[in-house]
Amino acid sequence: MTTLFISDLHLTEDELRVEEAFVEFIDEHATNAEALYILGDFFEVWLGDDDDTPFNRRIIDTLAALPVDKYIMHGNRDFLIGEAFCAAAGLTLLPDPTIINLYGTPVLCMHGDSLCTRDEAYMETRKMLRNPAFKQELLSQPLPVRADIARGARDQSKVHTRETAMDIMDVTLEEVTRELHEHETTLLLHGHTHRPAIHDHPVNGVPGTRIVLGDWGTHAWYLAWDESGYDLRSYGI
Ligand code: MN
Repeated sequence: MTTLFISDLHLTEDELRVEEAFVEFIDEHATNAEALYILGDFFEVWLGDDDDTPFNRRIIDTLAALPVDKYIMHGNRDFLIGEAFCAAAGLTLLPDPTIINLYGTPVLCMHGDSLCTRDEAYMETRKMLRNPAFKQELLSQPLPVRADIARGARDQSKVHTRETAMDIMDVTLEEVTRELHEHETTLLLHGHTHRPAIHDHPVNGVPGTRIVLGDWGTHAWYLAWDESGYDLRSYGI
């Protein structure tokens, strides 16, 4: 049996081909899996579990119909995903980070945005967005107001991404070491940076690995893990 990991689908009504690819992925790969983990930024934006659109309902129905253990972690874009959405979709909401034991190997799973510590402006914003009081305040606004706020935040983020050096937008290797050391593991799996790769990352002289999932812009990226090990895979969508 195989455990599957995906992240950064950035599902949106404006890109229905990604939804199509997701449905296909569920049918062809996830149906026979042992478990499916979604490590953040599943949606391009999530305004709240009360945002009952036909698109959101289709995604919920697709997940709910999958007879497999399913887990989701917040990303920086869908951090408003709540228990109501998870219950409807049959998902378990995981904290970031979470250690998952995979066939005897403890794996530290994260979305990845918290690792980009050199992006100080973003780290400040992140602190605010993850504050429960701020989230509560945001969710108390009417949906159209939340949609406006989200649009504004995305525009701002695009400008920030354009103006920030590429290396600052990537993870800080010292932070990766710190997390691996703190959680006493040598394997980290994350998304967020859209730079799919498998990196050697020794910790205090002990061999370690950092696996980065890819986004679903042009390819469907996923990590398949079974008794014999892991495999980072992709195909064009
Ligand atoms: Mn992200």
